[in-house]
Formats: sequence, C-alpha cells, structure tokens
Amino acid sequence: MKRVVQLKEFCDFLRINKNLIIDNWLSIDEVKNIFAIHELVLSSEDRKVFYEFFDCLIGVMQWDVEISECPVKTKFLQILNKSFFNISELFTLLTCLKNSLTYYFYKEGIFSFVLLDDVEKNFLKISNELFNTYEQIKDKDTDYRADHSNLLNEYKKAVDLSNIVSKTNPKGIITYVNDKFCEVSGYKREELIGRPHNIVRHPTMPSRIYKELWDTIKAKKTWNGLITNIQKDGKSYTVYSTIVPILDIDGDIVEYIAIRHDVTEFEQAKEQLSTLNKAMKHKVDELYSMAQTFEEQASIDVLTGVFNRMKFEEFFDLEFQKAKMQRNQLSIILLDIDNFKSINDTFGHDIGDDVLKVMTKLISQNIRSTDTLSRWGGEEFVILLPGTSLEQAKLVATNLKNVISGYKFDTLNYEVTCSFGVAVCNDSDNKEKLFKRVDTVLYKAKNSGKNIVIAEDEI
Ligand code: GH3
Ligand code: MG
Ligand code: MG
Repeated sequence: MKRVVQLKEFCDFLRINKNLIIDNWLSIDEVKNIFAIHELVLSSEDRKVFYEFFDCLIGVMQWDVEISECPVKTKFLQILNKSFFNISELFTLLTCLKNSLTYYFYKEGIFSFVLLDDVEKNFLKISNELFNTYEQIKDKDTDYRADHSNLLNEYKKAVDLSNIVSKTNPKGIITYVNDKFCEVSGYKREELIGRPHNIVRHPTMPSRIYKELWDTIKAKKTWNGLITNIQKDGKSYTVYSTIVPILDIDGDIVEYIAIRHDVTEFEQAKEQLSTLNKAMKHKVDELYSMAQTFEEQASIDVLTGVFNRMKFEEFFDLEFQKAKMQRNQLSIILLDIDNFKSINDTFGHDIGDDVLKVMTKLISQNIRSTDTLSRWGGEEFVILLPGTSLEQAKLVATNLKNVISGYKFDTLNYEVTCSFGVAVCNDSDNKEKLFKRVDTVLYKAKNSGKNIVIAEDEI
C-alpha cells in the first residue's frame, strides 16, 4: 500500500514537472543529434506533443503498475527514493517497469510505442523510437489538421453565404464582420471594426432584451432570439441571432461570435398576415351582422313590423309540435279588414298603410305575450294562441273586434272593422287542414255581414 502511495506521489511529481523533464530531455546532446539528423527544429507547438506523450506515459503508470511485481524493484525504488532525477534516470525508471508491463501509446489508434529493456544501454534507441513516434504523430496531426482546416473552410463559406456573422471582444467591440454583415447593415467593414456592436442597435429595441442577452452570454451560455437592428441609412431589419461566448483554456471569455439569419421578410409577412387576419375577422363580423339583418328582414313585415307569413309558419310548426307533445290546445284567429279596398280608394294608399300599421298596434296591445301576431298577406292577419281553447280564442277575437271597431282613426272619418275566423287544432289535424278550416269560417264571417267573429264550432 505504501508503495502504491509512493508511486502515486511519483506520478504527481512527473506530471507537475513534465514540461521541465521533457525540456531537459530535449536539450541532451544525443537527443539533439537525432533531431539534427532528421533536420528538424522543434517549435513550442512540437514540444507540446512530447508533453502530451509523456503525460500519457504517466497515466499508464499511475493506473496499471504493480510495483511489487517489478523485477528490478531495488533499482526502481532506489531511484524513486531520490528527490531529483536526471533524464537518464527517468528512462531507467521507465525501463524498470517494462518487465512487468508494456506501454502502449495510442494516438488515433495507430501508433504503439514499446519501451526497451536496458535504458542506459539503449538510450539512443529509445530516443530514436520516441522521435519516430513523434514524427508519425506530427505527420498524422498535420494531415488531420489540414483535413479539418479544409472542412472548416468549407463550413465557413457555407455559413458566410447565408448568415450574418460578427465577432466582438468581451466588451462588445467589433473585431470581425463577414461580407453579409456589411451588405445587410449598409456599413463598410472599416466603419464597423473597432466600434461598439450597438452601432446597429435599433432605438426601439427594449433594454430588457439586451440585458437578458448580456446576462446569458456573460454567464458563458449561448443566447438565441429575435433582434431588430438598424441599417446605416436608418431602415430596420430583423435577425434571428445566436450568440456564442468563446472561452480560453482557463474558461475565461475571450470573444463572442454572433451568427444571425435575416428574417425581415418573414417577420413582415407575419405582420401582414396578422393584419389580414384582423381585417378578415372584422369582415366576418360585418357579414355576420348583415346576415342577421337579412334574417330579420326575411322574417319581419316591413310595413307593419310584425312577423311575416314565412316566420309565422315556422312558429306554427314549432307550437304545433309542442301542443301535440304536451297535449295542450292551440288556437288560431284569422282576421281580415272589412272593405279595405274602399279605404284605399277613398283616402289613398298611404292612409291605407297607416290603417294597417295602427291595426297591428291595436292587435298587439290586446293579445298575450305568448300569442304571436303575423301579417298573413294584404289586409289579413293571423294570431297564434298556444295553450288556448276555442272558447278562449273566441273571447280574444271578440275583444279585438270591439277594440278595433271602437277605435277613432285621426286621419279618417270612417269606422274600420274586421271579420274574424277562429279555429282550434284537433288530434287528427295538420297545418293545411287547420288553415283550410279557419279560412272557411272567416269566409263565413264575411258573408254574414262582416265585423263579426265566427268560430269553427258555429258553422
Ligand atoms: P272584404 O271586406 O271582402 O275583405 O273586402 P276588401 O276590400 O277588404 O278586400 P279585397 O280583397 O277586395 O281588397 C283588399 C285590398 O287591400 C286590395 C289591396 O290593394 C289592398 N292592400 C293589400 N295590401 C296593401 C297594403 O300593403 N297597403 C295598402 N294601402 N293596401 C293594401
Ligand atoms: Mg282580404
Ligand atoms: Mg278585406
């Protein structure tokens, strides 16, 4: 257990000092010679590959090594117990571990690196192998980077074609704009770089949205949303924006990249559609009220304002069914103004119209609210009396006859009278039969001298 702890500490030590160790190793003459043979000058980027490689080796040691099984334990521990290692000791150390395990260094699943037996004897060989491995990694990495760089360029072209792209520093100062940005905003690139991004902020945009935007991206999160911007010439354009904070290796924000899609036309179309919808709704309301007016007009007699014959028949059908179901009595009164033709002839058609209007008023005032008065046609009227027996209907008609004959018309010195026929529904009735009967009794009333009520049980 103790040794494992020691190994862990050792690994930590290696990890912390990995750059120093590799830098030392690379400065040894023998290693330098190998690089010289291959005409290679190491850049700081190249060195990083070695650091990573070394880090991998440490990783393997840390997790897979059982020290107790190490055949060169004594030497291993001897070195391990020292507080400082030189590079050749380090490789000796690695070699010590070799008999108990083989190190495989995988990168992209292609390379393997095997440590050799005696590092002091084979030091240059190890260096050579290490170098070869490095070269292969480097080549592979260069190919990989080249592939990715091509791919990234393709993506960039595609994004630039249809999107408005810009970059700002953490303070919101523009550091990059693509062509599309210039085209849509109407600014030249040099007018934008170095300026605050709010150069395109539309004055109507609520501060609340910008606050939410900044809060989000400062919290290192991506913000999406609709923004209305302003062009150099003052016209507005609407963009759907995605703003991504870019972080460095320490997790600090180094810049923001904004990718936007121009949705001005789409937003305008949406607005037009909503206006159209409103107009359509208004039209529908108008049509609805027109339809209502038509319906009213279709059911009401224009001259007298009472229901017309069509509406009466509708009422009748309804009341007829109800009366049958509830076994209630349903009576009707048909009345006709006497000698109306001579009223027209004597006083004129307009006076005739007035008589018709006054007549409906008199009748309406002398029937119950449940009774329905309708103009049957010309100077004939019909009254539907639900829940009314023939006897009761006869009384209603007689009262109406008296009210009408006693009424003094302002416009004429003439007594206006009506004749009445009264009938009641029976069990075997239908509309036609009932109307035929009431028409017959009215005819009888006319023939009996007019200004009279006759019910069907009297003939
Ligand atoms: P009777 O006593 O037998 O009912 O005779 P009458 O003259 O009342 O009946 P007739 O059928 O001979 O004439 C009815 C008249 O009513 C004929 C028509 O011109 C008139 N009339 C029908 N509708 C209107 C109207 O809306 N206004 C006016 N002023 N007259 C109308
Ligand atoms: Mg008539
Ligand atoms: Mg008449």
